[in-house]
Amino acid sequence: MMVKPATVKISSVALKHNIQVIRQKAPHSKIIAVVKANAYGHGVLFVASAVEKLVDCFGVARLEEALSLRSQGITKPILLLEGFFSEQYLPIIAVNNIQTVVHNKEQLLALQQAELPNKIKVWLKIDTGMHRLGVALEQVDEFYQQLQNCPNVESDIGFISHFSRADETDCDYTQKQLEAFLQVTKDKKGERSIAASGGILFWENAHLDWIRPGIIMYGVLPDNSATHTQGLIPVMTLTSSLIAIRDHKKGEPVGYGGIWISDKNTKIGVVAIGYGDGYPRNIPTGTPVYINGRFVPIVGRVSMDMLTVDLGTESEEKVGDEVILWGKELPIEELSKITGILTYELITKLTPRVLTEYI
Ligand code: PLP
Repeated sequence: MMVKPATVKISSVALKHNIQVIRQKAPHSKIIAVVKANAYGHGVLFVASAVEKLVDCFGVARLEEALSLRSQGITKPILLLEGFFSEQYLPIIAVNNIQTVVHNKEQLLALQQAELPNKIKVWLKIDTGMHRLGVALEQVDEFYQQLQNCPNVESDIGFISHFSRADETDCDYTQKQLEAFLQVTKDKKGERSIAASGGILFWENAHLDWIRPGIIMYGVLPDNSATHTQGLIPVMTLTSSLIAIRDHKKGEPVGYGGIWISDKNTKIGVVAIGYGDGYPRNIPTGTPVYINGRFVPIVGRVSMDMLTVDLGTESEEKVGDEVILWGKELPIEELSKITGILTYELITKLTPRVLTEYI
């Protein structure tokens, strides 16, 4: 008997393919590959090493993520997408050749007052409508001037903004954000970046100098309602195995709370994955998994280490057979639609207990 526990298989072939697809979609833009949150749960060092030669910069959310990449020998530019959180980190940022976003006056002041061994490349973050981070449109001139005059800041200041609704193709909010961004940066020297995955796929005129793909690099669409894959291949396959196959009588419940009662005699498969691995607990009965070329429904509650599926009486499955929870065979977008849980959340919530196999 050989039973493999919950495992993610991460494909470098799919990753590289997706970068090619992205390049074809935005042939004139440089790429900031977004690898924050452990490369969206895919393993940041593997992902960064696999694509380093194919991209132009890495984007992370935390200084620790940038330093971890540097300590593993990644030499490509790295951008802190949310900027730095304390002035005490500025010397570390400078010596490690890390770029930073500036989005508030506290960061500007810290840069002005710091004593640094070398200049830092800065991107001015502009709020064009997300209303989360970024300086207001009216403040852009003032910030830009101050940054230009700051001896700690490299002269090629970039401009960056973020769409809030780029995955909605029938809504003009994105166009308005883009116009505001172009207008406010019009007479200023400096490269511009506004498009993440939604902008790359759906708003060609927003590609500009730099694109910032996150989710599509991992082969997942930013928009669940999309009906085609856009040529992307899922990088992650979440698998586990059957650890038991049990005869089950009509009228009997399964699992905690007995929430599902079988209306027929059947075979129940027990799969070694649960919410302790990051598989969501609150999913509707009937959510599919993929086993031996067919979809079978999850029945009963997902528990910490296991879930149960209705294999049917005709089942020829054996203990040890592989079960796919999501991947090429069972798109994570489908699961997202069924469960109401965002794809981004599904992939980043897997826990360290899940084994990783790089393929
Ligand atoms: N740029 C910024 C500033 C972000 O915060 C993110 C992710 O949230 C991205 C790019 C990548 O977004 P996506 O995964 O939708 O491509």
